[in-house]
Amino acid sequence: MRATAMSARTSPPLGSESNPLRAAIVGSGPSGFYAAEVLLRRPHTRVDMFDALPTPFGLVRSGVAPDHPKLKQVCLVYDRIARSPGFTFLGNVTIGRDLSIAQLRGTYHVVVIACGASTDRRLGIPGEHLPGSHTATEFVGWYNGHPDYQDRKFDFSQAAAVIIGQGNVAADVARILATPVDCLRTTDICEAALAALAESRIRDIYIIGRRGPAQAKFASVELKELGRIRDCVGLCNESDLGLNPASQEELAHPNSDDNRKNVEIFRSFARNVAGPAPRRLHFRFLETPIRINGDSRVTSITLARNDLVGSKFEQVAAATSTSAELACGLVFRSVGYKGVGLQGITFDETSGTIPNAKGRCLDGEKPVSGLYVTGWIKRGATGLIGNNRADSVETVGSIIEDLAVLDPAPKPGAAGLAPALSRDGIRVVSYADWQAIDVSERTRGQPKGKPREKFTRIGEMIAAVDQAEVTQRGGANEEVAEVEP
Ligand code: NAP
Repeated sequence: MRATAMSARTSPPLGSESNPLRAAIVGSGPSGFYAAEVLLRRPHTRVDMFDALPTPFGLVRSGVAPDHPKLKQVCLVYDRIARSPGFTFLGNVTIGRDLSIAQLRGTYHVVVIACGASTDRRLGIPGEHLPGSHTATEFVGWYNGHPDYQDRKFDFSQAAAVIIGQGNVAADVARILATPVDCLRTTDICEAALAALAESRIRDIYIIGRRGPAQAKFASVELKELGRIRDCVGLCNESDLGLNPASQEELAHPNSDDNRKNVEIFRSFARNVAGPAPRRLHFRFLETPIRINGDSRVTSITLARNDLVGSKFEQVAAATSTSAELACGLVFRSVGYKGVGLQGITFDETSGTIPNAKGRCLDGEKPVSGLYVTGWIKRGATGLIGNNRADSVETVGSIIEDLAVLDPAPKPGAAGLAPALSRDGIRVVSYADWQAIDVSERTRGQPKGKPREKFTRIGEMIAAVDQAEVTQRGGANEEVAEVEP
């Protein structure tokens, strides 16, 4: 407190030309960019955004499905933010490994954690870790070219795959498994995934919900899309579509538009016949996985039958032989993402979030000075890309309210971290470097009719930056040679 009072006496006001507000944002996904955008509206503000990857945009790059290019157009907004005066990107720097939260807090007035939810929820059932049982996170990261998932192997020689969960990630997984590979060739799906999926022999894909059709979490547009996949048919049992009174009441609610539409779509699936379609998407309800079976790999899954009590589920007593075994060679667990804690910040393991009050990180009941949070790591892994905007507006609102009580002593920002980063041999990737990677990926994609062919290894990305530098230097030397006879 005394130090703060002293620095307040001696420092120019925080947020002035000679003492700009310096903010570090950890994570370059949607919530990080929206926080940067709102912060940079204030004069005399500098934002340094860190990402563990050399590439920005978080789940928009490595989560949004390759056949949903429109959703990726939001990167144009983030690109505009990144080009704003006062913004710096520091890619390829992992906070918690290359730099600590304590180092950031010493170097910036405010630190905003926007690192999303990088892992997945577990089912906690026997057999979950058998070969052939995967998380949706792994599969999505793999086909989207995320460097952390490129060594994963998926056995597409299997005839049947089961997806646990009925949210939008499950819809993405189902669509990528069910879509004829020719329809994916001109997307930005990575090359290795395209090659592996081209060999797929999967015919039946089961999408399992633990509650009823009225409680499925698919956005109705996503579900509708699953019914429109070429050479694939969506199927449901009519008998599964009965609604209990609570579900009927839920559907009557004005906010249940998507759920009402979903039930109609499931009804249309129930009228479909399997016919000769090469692929079939089976939607099943009121089933909870209780065991994944197999000796050396997955051969089946055991599903317990549930009842709906209100809109919650309850497993029907085991004694009444209400479980069924479903033969399958692949299981994808798509039961939600979960955040991971960072050393030096209080973390709630159960919710996978950082406890906070309007974005102010809490230690017990008390806000931690200068430490904020936004996005999935703040509120949990729910909502669409745009929902992060309101979240970041709230967090930055708290920062602005707190300006008067933050330590006003000038902070060096990234310049203060440079010695530590260079001592440890960290190759920091700037936004200009990312732009070189971007150009290189687009160029690689062109001959294949793809928007880009992503680099899937960090080494390849850095090599693309190096190559661009060499080319630029070559160009500059040629220019010099031209003017110097
Ligand atoms: P989600 O929407 O929360 O869905 C998770 C699903 O898993 C639900 O059906 C849930 O059932 C089920 N589940 C949870 N625990 C389970 C368990 N122990 N056993 C069986 N089932 C279980 O999560 P998500 O699909 O990962 O999506 C995360 C967020 O990203 C969502 O907000 C989603 O809308 C968004 N997203 C959007 C898009 C898009 O717009 N195109 C694409 C991908 C993701 P209960 O309902 O019973 O809990």
